[in-house]
Parts: sequence; C-alpha cells; structure tokens
Amino acid sequence: MQSITREALAEQLRDLGLQPGDAAMVHASLSQLGRVEGGAATVVEAVLDAMGPGGTLLTPAFTAGLWRDALVMPDCREFCPRRLCPSQHPSHEGAIPNAALARPGRLRSCHPTHSWVGNGPQAEELLRGHCESPTFCGPGNPFEPLVERDGWLLTIGVGVDRITLWHYFEDVWQLPYLGVRAPAART
Ligand SMILES: [Zn+2]
Repeated sequence: MQSITREALAEQLRDLGLQPGDAAMVHASLSQLGRVEGGAATVVEAVLDAMGPGGTLLTPAFTAGLWRDALVMPDCREFCPRRLCPSQHPSHEGAIPNAALARPGRLRSCHPTHSWVGNGPQAEELLRGHCESPTFCGPGNPFEPLVERDGWLLTIGVGVDRITLWHYFEDVWQLPYLGVRAPAART
C-alpha cells in the first residue's frame, strides 16, 4: 500500500478549501487514513502546512476522567483553573491529538475533562476563555471564538457524528436529557 506523505495530505487539504491563516478544529482517525509516512505527527504538520504560518489547529485533548470519577487532569489540580494549562496529561482521543500535544509551542485549555490543544498563532485567543466554562461543552468553549472567525470543523477519516460541537447545542438549548445521571451537577 502506498504511504500518504505530509506534502500530499497538505495538498489535499488545500484542495478541500483550507487557506492561509485559517483556524480548524479537527477530529481525525489515524488508522482510517491508511499508511501515513511519519504517523500522527505527519497529519498534524500537514494540516498546519495547509493553513500556513498564520493557521491554527485545534484538536480535542479530552481526558478519561469523565468516566473514572476523577474530574481533573492529575497534573492540573493544584493551580488550575487558569487561562492556559501546563498539563501533560495525555488525551484519550487517539494518536493525532497526542501528537498535537507533543508539539513544541502547543497550548492547552484548562478544563478537567474537555481540554483542547492548540497549535498556531491563534491558539491563545481560541483557548483562553475555556477555563471559565461551567459545563463540558457549553458556553466558553473554543467553539465560540472558532465560529466567530469562520473557522473550520474538519473531520479526517471519521464521520460528522464525531464532531464535539454538537454537544454545544445540546448545552445551550438545555436539552432535557442533560444531567439525568447527575442532576445536581447542572443546578
Ligand atoms: Zn489546568
């Protein structure tokens, strides 16, 4: 099987419409891409290449605490919340977000379960309000500044059912099934 290169992937992303200076929130599956030369880090670099030096990539750095009764990243507990989080705690969202977390200069929003990692010059503006978000996916999430700047929601190798933004609408519309398992948490 032929390997996908960084250059080829970046070109395909530009063909899709990514342009210099864009911001993109990406949900991606490395295993669904086939053989990628250089693995997950190549996907991260290719998305950034497609948007040029002014472009910014957001990927989910969510942690498994939500399902383990440990609603903090262990290395975030003492001093957070703060505008950006120094946590090195890995994401449970797969190889590509973890490659984004390993990238020099990346920034991370401070949130106990639904932290986002940003690479690129717009990352701080996109992430800094997240620490004040009172719920998992509601107001204050990076969705808001992303939409304000007409950013991308990009899926690579996964369906639109993987887009986290849907949960934002559930939250702001206060859909009745939210909080069924822990109603006190939403009062
Ligand atoms: Zn933190």
